[in-house]
Amino acid sequence: MKNKICILLTALLILCTASSGCGNQNKTETSVVSVIDTVSVIDEKQSSESERSTEQSSETKSSTKQSSETKSGTQQSSETKSSTEQSSETEGSTEQSHTESSAVVPEAKSIALTKHEITLTPGQQTEINYLLSPDDAPRKGVTYYISDTSVFTISPYGVITANSPGSAELSAKTDSGLSDVCKITVIPSPEPSLTSTEESPSPSSKLTNAIVDPYTAYNSERVYRDIDLLCSRYPDILAKYDTGKSTKGKPITYVTLGKGSKKGCIVAGIHSREHITISFTMKCIEEFAQAYTDGSMYGSYDVRSLLNEYTLYIIPMCNPDGTDISTAGESPLVAVNGFDADNYKLNANGVNLNLNFPYNWETHLANSGYIPGDEQYHGSSVASEKETQAIMKLCSENEFLWLLDMHILGGGIFWRDEYNGEIPDDYKFTSSISDVCGYQIFGISTNISKYSGGLENWFRFAYNRPALCIEMIPISQAYFTDTYIGYNSYFEQAVDWQRTKYTYLEAMSCMK
Ligand SMILES: [Zn+2]
Repeated sequence: MKNKICILLTALLILCTASSGCGNQNKTETSVVSVIDTVSVIDEKQSSESERSTEQSSETKSSTKQSSETKSGTQQSSETKSSTEQSSETEGSTEQSHTESSAVVPEAKSIALTKHEITLTPGQQTEINYLLSPDDAPRKGVTYYISDTSVFTISPYGVITANSPGSAELSAKTDSGLSDVCKITVIPSPEPSLTSTEESPSPSSKLTNAIVDPYTAYNSERVYRDIDLLCSRYPDILAKYDTGKSTKGKPITYVTLGKGSKKGCIVAGIHSREHITISFTMKCIEEFAQAYTDGSMYGSYDVRSLLNEYTLYIIPMCNPDGTDISTAGESPLVAVNGFDADNYKLNANGVNLNLNFPYNWETHLANSGYIPGDEQYHGSSVASEKETQAIMKLCSENEFLWLLDMHILGGGIFWRDEYNGEIPDDYKFTSSISDVCGYQIFGISTNISKYSGGLENWFRFAYNRPALCIEMIPISQAYFTDTYIGYNSYFEQAVDWQRTKYTYLEAMSCMK
C-alpha cells in the first residue's frame, strides 16, 4: 500500500505536463493518505449484507496510473522547476511525503450529514453528503442505511430520490460505529392548479429532471446528446454550433450561452484524461441556463443580468477522439507507449494538443525528439491538428475578452508567462477567480521550451488578453480515486464544486 501511495503521489505530480505546466503543484499534504470514499447504500431490511458489500466496493477500483510515472518523472522534475517559483519546495515535500505518508492515519472522531431534515414530493431529488472530523480522516467504509426504501432511495453518491409519501430515516454509519441521521419526509405532490394554464415548473422540479450527470465520465456520444437536450430545454439562452471536426471526423461542438455583446471563451477536455472538466462544464451550462430561465440568483450572482451582458462560447469537449479513447476505451490510432486508455492524454494522432498551437512551437521542437504517443509530442508541424485549428477558428471569429482552458490537477491557475509578460488585467482577472473559487495562483511560467505551443499562452500572445490554464481538483482531493474515470464518482468533492461552480460566472463578473 505504501508503494502504491508513493507511486500515485508521483503520478499526480506529472498528470499534465504541457505548456504552462498543467500539473504543477506548490503544496503536498504530508498527512493525506490514500483515501477511497467508499459508500454503500443499505436498506435496513437487508442489513445482513451490508458489511460484505462495503468490503467489496472498496476493492473495485484498481490503480491504472502506475505505468506512466517512471517514464516521465525525469521530464517532470525539470518542468516543475521551470514552471513556478515555488517548485523547489514542491519537489522536496514530495520526497518527504513518501516517507511520512504511512505514519499517521487519522481516525474519524465524528460524522455529520450535511442535512438533517428534508422534505420532498414523489420523484423529487436532492443531494446529501457527510463530513468527517477531522476532515482528513479516511472516508472509507461509510454506509448509508434507509429505514424504509418505499419512501426514498439514495445513490452511492448521495442523490436522494423521493418515492412515495411517508417518513423515513437516512443514517450514515462508519465502520467504527459513528453515525448521524437525517429525517426525510415525502409529502404528496400538490394538485395541479385548475386556474393556471401556464406551465411554470419550480426550480426544484427542474432539478428532478437534470440532464447532465457529472457522476459518470462523459464519452462523446453523451456530450452530443446532452447538448441537444439542453438546447431543446433552454432554446431562449442556449444554442449549439460546430467549429470544425476532429481527426476522426467527430464534430467539435460549441455552445453559446447568453445574449450579451461581450464574449468569453471556455475550452474543456483538451487533455482527454482530464475529462472531468467536461462534466464540470456541462453541469455549469445546465445550472446557469436554468438560473437564467428562472430568473433566480446563483449564489450571489445574478445570472440573467450577467448573461444579458455576456455570451459565453463554450467548447465542452474539444478533443472528442481523445475523450473516447480515455472514457470509452476506443483504440488509439497510434501506439501509446504503454499508457492505458484511462491514462490517455492526447488526440487520435497521438499529439498533445496543448503543445500544438502557433506559439514558439519551434522552440519546443528544438528541445524534443518525441514521437506520436509521447505526452510531450507537439505534432508534425505547427497547428497541425484539426482540433487546434477548430479552436483557433472560433477565437479568430470572435473578439473574446478572455479565455479559460480547463485542466486538472492542482487546484490552481497558470496565468502569466515570462515571454508574453504582463497582459492587461491578467492579475485582476486571476485573483478575482482565485478569491471566489479557491484556486491558488501559481507562479509565472519561465521556461518557454515547456510552455510553447500552449493554448492559453498562444491566446495571450495573439490577442493580448487574459487566458488562464485552470487546474481543477486540489491535491487534497487527489486521493479519492486511483483512476481518472473514478473522479466522476466523487464529482462534487473532487472538483470542490461548491466553490468552483462560480468560476465562469466570476470570470464574467470581474471583466465587465
Ligand atoms: Zn491538462
